[in-house]
Amino acid sequence: MELLLAVQNVIRVRVLVATNLNKVYGESVKLTKDEKKYLSKLADLGCIICYRLGYAGTPAEIHHVRGMGLGMGVRSSHYDTLPLCPEHHRGNTGYHGMGRKAFERQYGTTEHELLNQVKEMLDEKDD
Ligand SMILES: [Zn+2]
Ligand SMILES: [Zn+2]
Repeated sequence: MELLLAVQNVIRVRVLVATNLNKVYGESVKLTKDEKKYLSKLADLGCIICYRLGYAGTPAEIHHVRGMGLGMGVRSSHYDTLPLCPEHHRGNTGYHGMGRKAFERQYGTTEHELLNQVKEMLDEKDD
C-alpha cells in the first residue's frame, strides 16, 4: 500500500507539472527542454515547506522566486523556482496567501534559503 501511494503521488506530481506549466505560467511561455526537465525534477522533490515540516513528497506546483535583482514583480528565471504544494503556494498558509514576509516569518526561513535548499537536494539526487 505504501508503495502504491508513493507511485500515485509521483503520477499526481507529473500530471500537476504538465497542467501547471501552462496554467501557472498563464501567458504562453516557451520552455527549453532543459527547463522542462529541471522543473519536472523540481516538482518531483515535492513541496519544500511540507518537507521541512516532516511530510516529504507532497505534490507541488512551481513557484517563481521574484525580485532577484530584477525588481519586484519581474519573473526571474525558471531555475529560480520552488516546489510548493497548492496550500503552501496559494492557500491561507501559503506564500501568496500570506505574502512573502509573513510566509518567511511563519516557517522561519527565507525564500532564498529555500531556493538554496532545493538546489542542494537536486544536486544530491544527481549523484
Ligand atoms: Zn506544502
Ligand atoms: Zn508562486
